[in-house]
Amino acid sequence: MSTTSRGPAPTVASREDAPGLVVPAGVVPPPTDRWTSRHLLGLGTLSPGEIRAVLRRARELAPLSASLGPRDDNPDTPWALARREGQRLAGRVVANLFFEDSTRTRTSFTVAARRLGAEVVDLFVIASSVSKGETLIDTAKNVEATGVDALVVRARQAGAAALLADHVRCSVVNAGDGGHEHPTQGLLDAYTIAEAHGRLDAFDLAGLRVAIVGDIVASRVARSNIAGLTRLGAEVVCVGPPALAPRSLEVLGCRVSHDLDEVLPTVDAVMMLRIQFERHGTPAVAPLPGAAPKRSAAIASVREYRTFYGLSEERAERMKPSAVVIHPGPINRGIELDHAVADGPRSVVLRQVRHGVAVRMAALSMCVLASA
Ligand code: ASP
Repeated sequence: MSTTSRGPAPTVASREDAPGLVVPAGVVPPPTDRWTSRHLLGLGTLSPGEIRAVLRRARELAPLSASLGPRDDNPDTPWALARREGQRLAGRVVANLFFEDSTRTRTSFTVAARRLGAEVVDLFVIASSVSKGETLIDTAKNVEATGVDALVVRARQAGAAALLADHVRCSVVNAGDGGHEHPTQGLLDAYTIAEAHGRLDAFDLAGLRVAIVGDIVASRVARSNIAGLTRLGAEVVCVGPPALAPRSLEVLGCRVSHDLDEVLPTVDAVMMLRIQFERHGTPAVAPLPGAAPKRSAAIASVREYRTFYGLSEERAERMKPSAVVIHPGPINRGIELDHAVADGPRSVVLRQVRHGVAVRMAALSMCVLASA
């Protein structure tokens, strides 16, 4: 029996399940079809035209998100493009201001900024010392006062990037704020799906259905994907047990199902999400120091979760021949995704990582140059 139903169109960024989310007035300009903003805070406040503008720019920059191979001085080669783009943010400084752990995203932003000729500084601020909004703001203002042109912000608090954008003059690019959004991940996922289905010309995803499977409630990646993919015309179905994929998500413009086996054969792409145990409160058993807890009151057991919602090789065989598997990482192999699928022919996980550089180059240059 179908457990799906359609919700209303997506609205604004404020959500009851993202407590503390504040988008200060004036920070988010009204959506247009051209890119005019000096900030990238989320996809939920952008128009389809603005999202496509970033994706088109990423497409131009795509040859730079791989090794350029042997040096070549001819025009019309990736080397010529690299020389041109390498001047675009020359003399500018991009600061990675990370209040929460990240390797993949921070590395990708660093490579992107350097490809554009910017200098990059890395700042890690231990999350536990940041308990008040004032501390975040003070830190950002102090970093900005050293003369940086853009802050790439990752924080535990939903709304943190927008809050900082309201208090600094430089660009702010959201690299993940609590359970709210991770807009560059949403953009690179849309790019990867468009590539897999031959939609890079117009980034029109009409007619495609995408399933997002797993811990939707805790996932900023899911929120950015729901906003981005639906604006580009795709249909999004969130799948998971009721505690991780509650029906209330439909207010974001997606459908909700609790039956992966029913949804899987119908989709053109499936995004598998890990269970974010660290965002599910105190575990019943204390983990070893430094290790992420592997228990959540939202599921009966990891084994049961895997039985119903893990993408095994056998399940993946029931997907459409053209359907692809994506994952924002880090992958919990053997839980939401089996080795054979993660490394198999449907997996475009490394394409996602690759496109992340082009998308972040596009976002950084468009934001910094909009504020120039
Ligand atoms: N890397 C993603 C994020 O920062 C997804 C995850 O952590 O599971 O939200």
